[in-house]
Amino acid sequence: MSLDTFREETRSWLEASCPESMRTPMPADETPGGGTKMTYKNPETKVWMDRCAEKGFTVPTWPKEYGGAGLNPAEANVLRQEMSRINARPPLTGMGISMIGPALLEFGTDEQKEEHLPKIADGSIWWCQGYSEPNSGSDLASLQTKAVLDGDEYVINGQKIWTSGANNADWIFCLVRTDFEAAKHNGITFILFSMDQPGVSVKPIKLISGLSPFCETFFEDARALRKNVIGQVNDGWTVAKRLLQYERTMIGGIGGGSQRRRSVADIAKEYVGVDNGRLSDESLRHDVTQHAMDDRAYSLTIKRNAEESKSTKAPSFVSSMFKLYGTEQNKKRYELMLSAMGGQMLGWEGGGFSDFELTETRAWLRTKANSIEGGTSEVQLNIIAKRVLGLPD
Ligand SMILES: Cc1cc2nc3c(=O)[nH]c(=O)nc-3n(C[C@H](O)[C@H](O)[C@H](O)COP(=O)(O)OP(=O)(O)OC[C@H]3O[C@@H](n4cnc5c(N)ncnc54)[C@H](O)[C@@H]3O)c2cc1C
Repeated sequence: MSLDTFREETRSWLEASCPESMRTPMPADETPGGGTKMTYKNPETKVWMDRCAEKGFTVPTWPKEYGGAGLNPAEANVLRQEMSRINARPPLTGMGISMIGPALLEFGTDEQKEEHLPKIADGSIWWCQGYSEPNSGSDLASLQTKAVLDGDEYVINGQKIWTSGANNADWIFCLVRTDFEAAKHNGITFILFSMDQPGVSVKPIKLISGLSPFCETFFEDARALRKNVIGQVNDGWTVAKRLLQYERTMIGGIGGGSQRRRSVADIAKEYVGVDNGRLSDESLRHDVTQHAMDDRAYSLTIKRNAEESKSTKAPSFVSSMFKLYGTEQNKKRYELMLSAMGGQMLGWEGGGFSDFELTETRAWLRTKANSIEGGTSEVQLNIIAKRVLGLPD
């Protein structure tokens, strides 16, 4: 099929299938996550997810047999453009499609792919990430959660922390230690198991905002099937690192200029004022312009890198550069908005603030976590120094 025909067909499918309410900016509490425990504030979120899943559009470039649409990069780009044209919300988000899915495509056996990928693609299973432990964050390879083989199963004991969404998750992808004698990077195994079993308990960590986006996760004789080890036993670090590259690329993308959202310049003009068609505050105008130029350059760099890495199809250590830069860009965006909106972006509840202002206050505070989650900025700098620039330890 020619690209033009594909565009035509996709456009009419989207027109017919995307509910009107899914063509508006997505409020934080309507994120389309999927999973058996998910409740949908707006039922059309689920309708939109299901329709896209049926078409393979939740994971457009994945092979059809695993729930994707098998699109090539040019077709996927057309789909992105057409979705953007009608302001369509992403039909599905989360660690399934952005982290464990890509890792499974790369490292999973045929059997593992057949079992897990379709349930990720149609949003029926919600995943969480069991990496960090109370004493193992930046130094992740020092993790101590232990797995011992018992017949066809591993028995798992230990604790994870900061497990995002663990209280709503159906399954976890988890790093466990299977060899305590080996050097720390060499005794780790990457394994998948169900969260719905007696050996797993979660304790949501309550934040000052009142929300509990992440949890402490405890394993007491939890069970994982041996067949759910991804990659080789004791070589889980290889899978873990690659998955982090997918995660960092995803997190880095949030700061990129490719995001469809209101420009800082427009917001600043509305709140500060306009003089001869230009933002009236000269100093802010300079900062906003610089940020927009950086955004554009960053977005082009992401595109260039995607082109250059087409043959490998997988991210590399360069993902650390994107994570570092993209998260700083995103934080800068919200600092500029705060400069422009002043007290209107400091409201938490009650009258005097629009929905947009209340949402942006929360979004501004949330950006603070961007340079910690998925590995801190300092850790990214270490990786860039060592792996990208080749500097000595
Ligand atoms: C919003 C959010 C969601 C998260 N979700 C998950 C999740 O779902 N699953 C999961 O497993 N984890 C998750 N995490 C945890 C996250 O991966 C860790 O917080 C992160 O890796 C840092 O580890 P730490 O908190 O133990 O800090 P530490 O490692 O104790 O670091 C403390 C400080 O020391 C600095 N530092 C440490 N080592 C070095 C070094 N070698 N060189 C220079 N500076 C250094 C760090 O940069 C940091 O500033 C999440 C975190 C956040 C904020």
